[in-house]
Amino acid sequence: MLMADSKPLSKATNTTAAGKAAQDAVRFDHVTISFQIRSGNEVIAVDGFDLGIQPKQFVALVGPSGCGKSTLLRAVAGLIDPTKGQVRVNAPDSLSGFARVAMVFQAPTLLPWKTVLGNVLYPVRFGTKRSGVDYSQRASELLDMVGLTRFRDAYPAELSGGMQQRVAICRALILDPDILLMDEPFSALDALTREELQFEVRRVHQKTGKTILFVTHSMSEAALLADRVVVMAAHPGRLKDDFLLDLPTDRDTATLDLPEFAGYVRRIRDGIYGQREGK
Ligand code: ADP
Ligand code: MG
Repeated sequence: MLMADSKPLSKATNTTAAGKAAQDAVRFDHVTISFQIRSGNEVIAVDGFDLGIQPKQFVALVGPSGCGKSTLLRAVAGLIDPTKGQVRVNAPDSLSGFARVAMVFQAPTLLPWKTVLGNVLYPVRFGTKRSGVDYSQRASELLDMVGLTRFRDAYPAELSGGMQQRVAICRALILDPDILLMDEPFSALDALTREELQFEVRRVHQKTGKTILFVTHSMSEAALLADRVVVMAAHPGRLKDDFLLDLPTDRDTATLDLPEFAGYVRRIRDGIYGQREGK
């Protein structure tokens, strides 16, 4: 039922869905990524991964530690190349592929000697700029969106962890990427701040219409945030389940009480632990 538009593409549908595939914001085609480790052995981080992500989709990639989530994000960011297969990022009007993909990590990694505003503006020095954009104004708008206007001249050490992560999100958005990659961005935060930021990132998605690929090992976080959940299993990292969520666009604490929400969390758990009996 919910699978119709988003089930993992088999080889056959891959060919027939070629027209549609061309519109994907991110496309993984039979992606295998392996690493040579010191013993000389090969670790297969991701094995035969197929996925097409539509523009503006909010996709949660959920799975146990070591299932290749970060590896896949790094491949989208162009930091590593697949051993086999292809990762395609569709950024139609980009000058250089890089400026259109931005990443937020678990640690905010702000520059301690720069102010909040300085940190948000930092990528402007290195990235591909668009002509006619006033980046200082854009930075102010982004800080306003996450409620940090008052702190624009503060230094990272003066901010809480949640505020620092908000700055990191603004920094990721400053060059107006098409695709926002988030790798367990809230894992280091306390539970209350984490919940606040989860709803915040949903709002950011609604406001900016970015394609978001959000990695988490939290099943409830995946179901709370995403429009689509991709479940992975480890050793080797591979796709286990892929489904759309039929939840209200605006998410809040009431979402957590919806029976559908509980059902989705259960489905993710089943995917991870491989207990699909009776389904
Ligand atoms: P996740 O983010 O889901 O926890 P990773 O993508 O970090 O998983 O890692 C997937 C697998 O690939 C793990 O077994 C990990 O040890 C291995 N791996 C990741 N990066 C490297 C690397 N640079 N060298 C060797 N092995 C790696
Ligand atoms: Mg990881």
